[in-house]
Amino acid sequence: EKPAEAHVFEADVARLLHMMVHSVYSDKDVFLRELVSNAADACEKLRYEAISTPSLLAGDPDARIMLVLDADNNRLVIEDNGIGMSRAELIEALGTIARSGTRAFMERIEASKAAEGAQLIGQFGVGFYSSFMVAERVDVASRKGGEDEAWLWSSDGKGSYEVRPLDLADAPTRGTRITLHLMEDAKDYTRRGKVEAIVKQQSGHVPVPIMLYDKPDEKPAQITDGTALWTKSKNDITKEEYADFYHGVSGQYDDPSLTVHFRAEGRHEYTTLAFVPTTPPFDLFDPDRKGRMKLYVKRIFITDDAELLPRYLRFVRGLVDTSDLPLNVSREMIQESPILAAIRKGVTNRVLSAIEKQAKDDADAYQTFWNNFGIVLKEGLYDDYERKSQLLGLARFRTTTSGENQRSLADYVKDAKPEQNAIYYLTGSSVEQLRVSPQLEGFKARGIEVLLLADPVDSFWVMNAPEFEGKSFKSVSQGAADLAQFAKPESAEEEKTPEAKAEISGFVALAKEQLRDDVSDVVASDRLTESAVCLVASESGYDRQLEKILAGAGQ
Ligand code: ADP
Ligand code: MG
Repeated sequence: EKPAEAHVFEADVARLLHMMVHSVYSDKDVFLRELVSNAADACEKLRYEAISTPSLLAGDPDARIMLVLDADNNRLVIEDNGIGMSRAELIEALGTIARSGTRAFMERIEASKAAEGAQLIGQFGVGFYSSFMVAERVDVASRKGGEDEAWLWSSDGKGSYEVRPLDLADAPTRGTRITLHLMEDAKDYTRRGKVEAIVKQQSGHVPVPIMLYDKPDEKPAQITDGTALWTKSKNDITKEEYADFYHGVSGQYDDPSLTVHFRAEGRHEYTTLAFVPTTPPFDLFDPDRKGRMKLYVKRIFITDDAELLPRYLRFVRGLVDTSDLPLNVSREMIQESPILAAIRKGVTNRVLSAIEKQAKDDADAYQTFWNNFGIVLKEGLYDDYERKSQLLGLARFRTTTSGENQRSLADYVKDAKPEQNAIYYLTGSSVEQLRVSPQLEGFKARGIEVLLLADPVDSFWVMNAPEFEGKSFKSVSQGAADLAQFAKPESAEEEKTPEAKAEISGFVALAKEQLRDDVSDVVASDRLTESAVCLVASESGYDRQLEKILAGAGQ
């Protein structure tokens, strides 16, 4: 026996493992989809590496995943002939947490009640560590493609793990073999019927074929064929198949709220299969979060770093497969490729039209979409110069007349006064606060709708927003001067008497004198109907909310 080195898990891993082991989560089956998906990823990485280093495939070119049932020893083995892990990679991958969003996820779980926590686990996908939901010990034997040493990682999930060198005879020729020593109450995972059903259902569409061995030394049966779902025709794919595939590609286990699948032909040839989740990903606002669209070239996975969609569509998951790029395209070249720029544009347009179609056809579903992702999509209102108008059409707002609903700008314009040629808005930090702002009184009294913009991003786009259906955006402070052109409200007071006017100018003079250094001017105004005074920004200056945000950012 070769010497073993002991390592302790990184603190976050220990925390995650503790949650796994003590999880009340009843759907433990998810560990299988996680291990199968890792095995498939490893095969795809190998395929990619083999483009430049064909010798990696040496004698064993066809990717496969093998599941071995061993009821006699109460074990389940998941093996792949993928890229494998070196000693350093084992320690890095299985002792730390790299996946972005995991910490936010754990915080949510710990803050939530048990039942909700269980659901969260199901939605997130918990990776390799989920094997400790069913195993009292996990052994990972791995040999990296092209290396002539192999390693065994082993742990009971209780705070530490061991790594030791492994005789090549005891290791896969290439790839990774994970042996789960099942807990007493997880024996069922050595039953063929159970395992086959779970794998077909959860992992039926991973792009690597899966073989099942009833016993360690028997002949296997192939239980999934490894055909890439996106290459099939839309009409041959069921909703469930799309959902299974989405789970695999996104690592999220809700159902997609939108599925976009199309093949572009002509100048550029590519296939896109993209999904909008129902549940917002945990790391939606993580500044490091990149898009999650995978790039394939002729069915070979190249990278998930190609920025195939603009940042404001970063909640979309899926892939693009093209035959227009060379297989050996370098990751660096990808960013500069004009072909990819054209594909990016095409995919963005398709995704946005699918979203538009949902807005038109299914207002309720769209409302949910907007509640989840509107705040991200709005980033496009200042980021994406070409598509600003289209994005304005998709935007939904709370307004002075919307109650709890949200309104589109088309609704706003349809209900605007005939003489109104602006879209009025007020920015602030919460809709509730905005609703009672004295600045709205003159508008409310005249029945003029005002958008209530309470997201931080609102202050940015609205400054440079294009016109919408011929109407420009105006803040209520800029718009106060317009009030005179609208019919006076019936409840308004009579013409002011000379005494009242004198009192008002006396008050204005006093206020100016007292506030000399704090305000640039004090004026009598039509805008208030109930409150005595309100603060406004100068008409040429920044909007007040933007001033606050900039002040907060130290500008
Ligand atoms: P994720 O798949 O989201 O990265 P996991 O916890 O599932 O997170 O896996 C962690 C890492 O461990 C993977 O990113 C990969 O580097 C490595 N890994 C896990 N399983 C395998 C495998 N079968 N072959 C090669 N590497 C693997
Ligand atoms: Mg994984």
